[in-house]
Amino acid sequence: MIRGAPLNLAAIPDSPYAAELLRGQSQLRFSPDLEAEYVRAHLIESRLIIRVMCALGAVLAVTRTVELMATGSPIGGSFLPIAFVAFVSTLLTAIAWSSTFERLFVPFARVIVPMRNVIVAACIAAAAAKGQREMLMVLPLLLLGPFFFLGMHYRTALFSGVVATLSFIAHAIIFELAMPVALRSIALVIVTLVGCAAVARHVERLSRTSFLETRLIAQLAEHDTLTGTKNRRVFDEHLARVWSQAASDGRKIALLLIDVDHFKAYNDHYGHQAGDRSLRQIAQCLQSVVRGPLDLLSRYGGEEFVALLFDVDAEQATKIADRVRQSVNELGIEHRGSRTTSMITISIGVAVVGPDPTRTPRGALQLADQALYAAKVGGRNRVRVMNETDYGMLVTGVFAQPARAAGNS
Ligand code: GH3
Ligand code: MG
Ligand code: MG
Repeated sequence: MIRGAPLNLAAIPDSPYAAELLRGQSQLRFSPDLEAEYVRAHLIESRLIIRVMCALGAVLAVTRTVELMATGSPIGGSFLPIAFVAFVSTLLTAIAWSSTFERLFVPFARVIVPMRNVIVAACIAAAAAKGQREMLMVLPLLLLGPFFFLGMHYRTALFSGVVATLSFIAHAIIFELAMPVALRSIALVIVTLVGCAAVARHVERLSRTSFLETRLIAQLAEHDTLTGTKNRRVFDEHLARVWSQAASDGRKIALLLIDVDHFKAYNDHYGHQAGDRSLRQIAQCLQSVVRGPLDLLSRYGGEEFVALLFDVDAEQATKIADRVRQSVNELGIEHRGSRTTSMITISIGVAVVGPDPTRTPRGALQLADQALYAAKVGGRNRVRVMNETDYGMLVTGVFAQPARAAGNS
């Protein structure tokens, strides 16, 4: 979808997904963090098929072991190899169906599957040499499983296929499988292996590209493209969620409405492109207000940002706001067009609110807006804080009515 759309991947800032898409998928391996995210996503997507196929493999292995033991026909003189296959297949199935699936399946399968398939290939060669030629039909299944049904990645599946093939060839020689049968089977195994590898490589490339595209689309839908901060939609949803949580936990939240001072004059003096660059720099600096998973910084619109801080009182919120105001000053972005200072500065309006049934998130935002207005009127490059006692100062908007009705004015 993205390849057909006029999306300039190189222009998307700070996206590991866009960076990997640009790099291409020829290596079939992402950077370590992204690789771990992909492996986990792939595993979860394939969970059902992995569980079912592991269980089928275990049932087949156990049934065959019991049958051989019951008829007293060991393979290559021993029951040990087939019993081992039954044991590890059952172990893998147990892991696949347990709560440790996400943590243990990949490392276990990476070791168990190639080892098991080497032994199964040897058993097939031994059985075929004893005249049980129908066992040769299991060979292609042995190769298909790792490539397509066990959630394994191309390289691991290829390794498993190659060692199983070598094992079959070696044991066909050791057990003296009749030459025409051996040659036909080896040819079949090699053709299946090459075919599976080609298809699996293509499928994995598509799967990786689709993973990156899906994640990138989700990222683009949540972020402001200029500054890389979360966008307004995400902020509104987050505020509603955190508001409910603060209400039920009896915590306060702070809203910081942050506005760049005299930014129109900055654009007029330095040009819009320079304005964009400075907005990006400022946004990066503002990111430091975020302390935990419930805090959020978002571009509110134009040269305004809003930060939500969970579980803070007025004193803490003031400290945080003043610290970030100071660090924007320290960026030292020259602003000759400003009437107040020679550097870019910001003004911050802070509302510290304990959500209760008479208050709304929109009301709290309005309070922050009022505080911002006070900071601007007070001379800019400053922080103004309002809290519950200031609700009555609000004279406009949706917030005033419920506040007054509840006797807050
Ligand atoms: P104040 O100190 O009162 O906030 O003055 P101001 O000039 O910052 O406020 P005003 O609302 O008059 O102007 C905001 C300016 O922000 C106008 C607009 O050109 C600029 N702006 C808004 N969004 C962007 C943007 O994405 N990029 C750039 N370069 N400028 C933007
Ligand atoms: Mg402004
Ligand atoms: Mg503004």
